[in-house]
Order: sequence, then structure tokens, then C-alpha cells
Amino acid sequence: MRGAVLQSPGDVRVDEIADPQITTGTDAIIRVTATCVCGSDLWPYRGVEPVEGPMPMGHEYVGVVEQVGSAVTSVEPGQYVVGSFVASCGSCEFCRAGYPSSCVHRVFMAQVGTQSERALIPHADGTLVALPGEPDADLIPSLLAASDVLGTGWFGAVAAEAGPGKTVAVVGDGAVGLLAVLAAQQLGAQRIIAMSRHEPRQRLAREFGATDIVTERGDDGVATIKDLTGGLGAHSVVEAVGTQESMQQALRATRPGGHMGFVGVNHDVALSGEELFFSQVHVLGGPAPVRRFLPELIELIWHREINPGKVFDLTLPLEQAAEGYRAMDERRAIKTLLTP
Ligand SMILES: [Zn+2]
Ligand SMILES: [Zn+2]
Repeated sequence: MRGAVLQSPGDVRVDEIADPQITTGTDAIIRVTATCVCGSDLWPYRGVEPVEGPMPMGHEYVGVVEQVGSAVTSVEPGQYVVGSFVASCGSCEFCRAGYPSSCVHRVFMAQVGTQSERALIPHADGTLVALPGEPDADLIPSLLAASDVLGTGWFGAVAAEAGPGKTVAVVGDGAVGLLAVLAAQQLGAQRIIAMSRHEPRQRLAREFGATDIVTERGDDGVATIKDLTGGLGAHSVVEAVGTQESMQQALRATRPGGHMGFVGVNHDVALSGEELFFSQVHVLGGPAPVRRFLPELIELIWHREINPGKVFDLTLPLEQAAEGYRAMDERRAIKTLLTP
């Protein structure tokens, strides 16, 4: 089959790769109907994460079940499915506690690869959610977003305890940040401050529910958030970048007693223990337990109550994956959808 492989930083190629094989009874194989390039794919693409030999790429997917292992009971061939970017068993203590991305049997789909014609899904019963039927074509981008960026933005907003009466600030205007704005709006936040310098992204943030836009960054950004909140800071801050500057900015923009949800994959971030101590901020982050939210998110999408698929501003055939990566790397695209 055809699949995207990162040969070395900056060099993504679509090549002939091995077909997936069911090796344990809990596996399934899906025919991928849509996949995409993620902000986190850019870390190895830019060489920030090491690339040791050719790497299959991608971890987001919507597809049709082609084959299931002997132990799979919840999905069957022919069904349309969405799953999380982390495969999880659904039955261990962490899965049952609502933290499937820390499942004791977890498999990061990035290690399997989904930017390909077919994909192996480990722990199919715990990982996949069957759709009510064949989705209309215009719902596919939104369902694909649920696989990671929507679920991750949603977790950021939940971790930040966005809700009625709250002022929520979102640091980061990539797909996850923009969808954290949408999540905060759905969760009933009173005021949503999006931090963005890019006009098209500001527009999308407003469409998703942002009430204020802040263009300053770093300590200037913190000062502006404080100005907007009577000098106190936001109740809820979602961090969706993962850098030293953005993490510090998020922590400093949160008021004492407030909540910070951080969902940007951290790279070389060091926070001062002393600053953390005196901040009195609740912090929760990590790889989002997307599977926990999937049934609810699919329901909202199926009934057209939310349209997170708007974050895809470039759609290309899988064969042109390299251009999809370049466009995101150069920030010409927010997110690239690939059709195998
Ligand atoms: Zn992703
Ligand atoms: Zn588990």
C-alpha cells in the first residue's frame, strides 16, 4: 500500500510500504478514508525530535473497518469508525478512570502510522468508536478533527475547568488552540480570550466563540490578560503550544485558584518550582484522553452542532503529503487533510 514516510528531517515521501497484518486477536485493520498532518508531526519533520531511520507518519484517522481479530466484539467490517491518536484497551484502571492515553497497554498511533491507505488499530474495542452510519462527505473533516485536535483542545478546556461564569484564555492559535476556543464556548464560558497574531486565525477563533483577541506575547501578553481581568488573571488558561515561552505565559496568566490545562507537547520546558509554588494554580496536562470524549464529540458533529473541520484549510491527495507538510511548516496552512 501507499504511505507517508519521513526519511530524514524535511524529507517526507509517499512510498510503497508493507500492508498491515493482524497479529493479535484485539487488532483491527481499517481502510483510511481521511487522515491529516498534525502540529506534532512537525517536531520530527523539523528535526526537533530525532529521526532514526525512515518513520511511518500520522496518527489521526477516519476509516472503514476491513478486518478484525478474533477477540474484537464492538466493531465489524464495513463500519465507519473514528479512533483516538492513542490506542487503549478500555478496561485497565487508567482507562476506566478516564485516562485512556495513559492506558497500561497504550500504543501511540504515531508509532504505527496512519498517513497511508490502510492502518492497523491495536486494541480495536477500546480505541474505535463506530459512527451511526456512513457519514456525509462534509462531516468527514470534523470527524477527523475529533481523532486528535478537537479532542485535545476539548481536554485542554476541561482541564482548565472552562465553564459558565469563567474567563478562559487560550495560548496558541494552531488547530488545537482554535478548537480549545470552540470547546470553551460549548462548555459555557462567559468570556474567551484567544491569543493570536494571525488575521485568518483570529477570524476563525471569533467564529468558534472568542470574545477577545490578544496579539501580545510573553509577559506583554500576560499583562494584557491581567488588564482584561481586573488585574487578577484568567480563571482558566489553555496552553496549546508546548514551548518555554507559552508555558510560562499560560501559568502567569492564570489567577490563584484558577486552572491551567496544558496540551501542547512540551519540548525543553523548565518551570521554576518556586513560581509554581506561589502561583496556587491547578495544573493538568499531557496527551489528551481523547477516547473519553469521542462519543460526545461524534454526537455533536453528527447533529451538526459544531464544525471543528473548519481548521482544515488545505486538502491534498495523500501522494502530495510532502506539500502538506511544507505548507504547515511555513504556516501557510493551519492543518492539512490528506485523502488516500
Ligand atoms: Zn495530532
Ligand atoms: Zn487501558
